[in-house]
Amino acid sequence: MADILIDRVAKSFGAARALAEVSLQVADGEFVALLGPSGCGKTTLLRIVAGLETASGGRVVIGGRDVGALPPRARGIAMVFQNYAVFPHMTVADNIGFGLRMQKRPVEEVARQVGRAAEMLRISHLLDRWPARLSGGQRQRVAVARALAVQPAVLLMDEPLSNLDALLRLEMRADLKAVLREAGTTTLYVTHDQTEAMGLADRIAVMHGGVIEQIGAPGAIYARPATRFVGGFLGSPPMNFLLCSASGGRAAIGDFALAAPQDGAVMLGLRAEDAVPVGAAEGIPFDVRVVEPMGAHLLLTGAVGDQPLRAIAPPDAAIAPGARIGLRPDPARLSWFDPETGRRLE
Ligand code: ATP
Repeated sequence: MADILIDRVAKSFGAARALAEVSLQVADGEFVALLGPSGCGKTTLLRIVAGLETASGGRVVIGGRDVGALPPRARGIAMVFQNYAVFPHMTVADNIGFGLRMQKRPVEEVARQVGRAAEMLRISHLLDRWPARLSGGQRQRVAVARALAVQPAVLLMDEPLSNLDALLRLEMRADLKAVLREAGTTTLYVTHDQTEAMGLADRIAVMHGGVIEQIGAPGAIYARPATRFVGGFLGSPPMNFLLCSASGGRAAIGDFALAAPQDGAVMLGLRAEDAVPVGAAEGIPFDVRVVEPMGAHLLLTGAVGDQPLRAIAPPDAAIAPGARIGLRPDPARLSWFDPETGRRLE
């Protein structure tokens, strides 16, 4: 069993608090993404799990063992980082086999595991090459193969795809997902890229200001963000927020009214795909300023009153800049937040 228990882990650098008491459990074989903007503490948390950084409080338990006093190499983990260091003076095969040779495994086993890891990452044809002769994407595959060759119980990754171009990132993301599922590796993965987290992870922990704001399956936190921050961080375009005033259980937006969870000031969270463009009188009144044809749909940017909003429309919709249209929201897919605390209402 190689589950990870992060129990009330805290970290301060001098007077600056990087992590409040963060708790998180990663089940054996599970893939959890730590997702958040720059400075939210995700790298610090990963480095504490790895043993590259010491926590100010709390404990990390890997496979039932408190690893607090153990150096990185004794923790049963492998790591892949953004600046995928491959050794320039070793061939691809020797790079992949490095960890196994350090563990003094028999030569035949090293060869077998190198072959297997290379096959998984689809770089078998590169085994005799030198790293200088590889593309960035190929080098990254070597780094991942090297980490997987030792068959680690736990794999820690920090932005491993961020140096790749968009298409390679997409390809590598799918391969990584397939490979890790096949290997059954417990993975903790740091990223600021929400599409990467959504695509790869069984569960996402969204971090903000040194705390985890929400943990859940990608679809679940996308549909029901616990805070305004989570709603705004997931999705492209990001969730729209409309401040409105409710009374008698109804929130008025222009001439349009929606059932609201409480009276007074409420913040509506509305995703672009959750509202259908209709006639101006039939929905939330939306003044379209810019129309961008994205191929699969039109991306509409504009405002509801003086509040900015983005919506999408079918690719062939006859909507021109300057138009006023209506947006009919799907009542089952709305989010409501407390404007003061940012917490989800209901
Ligand atoms: P990024 O994606 O930019 O790496 P992050 O979410 O991974 O961001 P961390 O690198 O974990 O964030 O940093 C969290 C906070 O701790 C930040 O405010 C950062 O400035 C601070 N911090 C991190 N490492 C150190 C350090 N060695 N000394 C002082 N402050 C640090």
